[in-house]
Amino acid sequence: MTERVVIVGAGQAGGRLAAILRKQGWEGGITLLGDEFDPPYERPPLSKEVLADDADPLVGRLFPDTFYQEQEIALLLARSAASLDPVAKRIQVGHENLDYGTLVLATGARARRLACEGADLPGIFLLRNTEDARGLRPRLQPGAHVVLIGGGFIGLEGAASARKRGCMVTVLEAQPQLLGRVADPAVAEVIQNLHRAKGVEIRCGAQLEAFEGHGRLQAVRLTDGTRIPAEIAVVGIGAVPNQELAVAAGIDCDNGIVVDAATRTSAPDVLAIGDVTAQSHAWLGARVRLESWENAELQAQAAANTILGRPAAAVGAPWFWTDQFDLNLQILGGRCPHDRVVSRGNPADGPWCHFFLKDERIVTACLGNAGRERRAVKQLMDSRAPVEPAALADPGTSLRSLVPKA
Ligand code: FAD
Ligand code: NAP
Repeated sequence: MTERVVIVGAGQAGGRLAAILRKQGWEGGITLLGDEFDPPYERPPLSKEVLADDADPLVGRLFPDTFYQEQEIALLLARSAASLDPVAKRIQVGHENLDYGTLVLATGARARRLACEGADLPGIFLLRNTEDARGLRPRLQPGAHVVLIGGGFIGLEGAASARKRGCMVTVLEAQPQLLGRVADPAVAEVIQNLHRAKGVEIRCGAQLEAFEGHGRLQAVRLTDGTRIPAEIAVVGIGAVPNQELAVAAGIDCDNGIVVDAATRTSAPDVLAIGDVTAQSHAWLGARVRLESWENAELQAQAAANTILGRPAAAVGAPWFWTDQFDLNLQILGGRCPHDRVVSRGNPADGPWCHFFLKDERIVTACLGNAGRERRAVKQLMDSRAPVEPAALADPGTSLRSLVPKA
């Protein structure tokens, strides 16, 4: 049996796993295979400082170029795994076969595309990787009309960045509220007000019909006949898991590769991590596909534990963040049913928090410019301890003081 770990997908989760394995004592071979030209990097800056501030598109690179050789990690870039044979324990890459002892699928997700009339006109962009950002940024000239399709993270962070560059910006969201996948209507309203105050036009309930233009994008047409002039459109309508290798190999998939807490798939010696997985999440009590920086980090560590024969770590409330204009929003938990909402502070004059409680326990927390409270809120949520709503609401009560002593 070969002692080689082969990781397919050299993104955040795959790159992190390779490094953790070496750091924590894996002495066998490691191959890290990715279909992008750039070495592993974190994506969050792409829609924020890379678009808004001229940052190096690779500002999020995980490690210096020399790292992989020093750590004896075989990094194969610009190469795609075409098929997987879980019985022979082999993947096919071009005309070569690679044998593995353990295979880790870290293939992430790709931006969902639109299939309407005009969708291939020049001027229409996705925003998933460094190449997308390199293509889009120079087009965000002052005064350019930019339409963001989708009022999720890409749409809203992209809108804030384009506005910062002096573009005329419109966000089109099909649903009645922004950030419907992750945020409560009250929080979505705070964000909508912020964007409008900064000059972004927000249209919810907007159904795109077609992109119009001769040789290049000139306008976006809605189903109600409205025509919005646009030289640039960015499509941010969600992400699709890159699960095709697993599906073709007969591995269980259900909007993502199904994994347990130890990142095991239904095939022996095949693990999966990151955006591509549908995991049974102990804290949420549900099977979910988490698409976040934190989840890529945690599942990389979980896979390393499995490969190194260590037990899985406990899982707490999921966490992610977004930066838009001068708002840093941190969201913990999930969009769970709640029976009470508690507000602390006021968005109009400083840091604020919205807590969503079920049976006196916080199931979701949204922290606006209140990042310093994150640690205490996370500990409170992870403990599942009941909380006193009046204490939560009172900015004079330290949230740390509410965390039960271990
Ligand atoms: P990825 O980073 O997507 O890596 C997967 C890699 O596998 C890719 O390079 C892909 O090309 C490659 N691959 C796919 N198929 C194959 C194949 N067959 N062979 C070889 N290689 C393959 N999360 C937050 O929590 N906060 C943020 O502020 C935030 N901002 C973001 C901003 C942007 C613009 C984007 C796109 C995402 C953002 N995210 C954010 C989400 C976060 O970046 C992802 O959750 C994270 O990248 C997931 O890591 P991953 O390794 O699973 O997937
Ligand atoms: P997203 O957060 O899922 O948001 C997509 C939004 O577009 C949803 O509100 C969706 O509504 C809406 N939509 C779908 N089809 C539409 C249409 N035809 N017209 C108008 N609106 C439409 O996905 P995303 O913003 O594209 O982000 C892609 C990936 O990058 C995700 O994994 C995301 O987590 C990640 N990302 C994360 C961050 C962050 O965490 N800060 C930042 C950037 C990107 P429905 O829900 O009804 O489909």
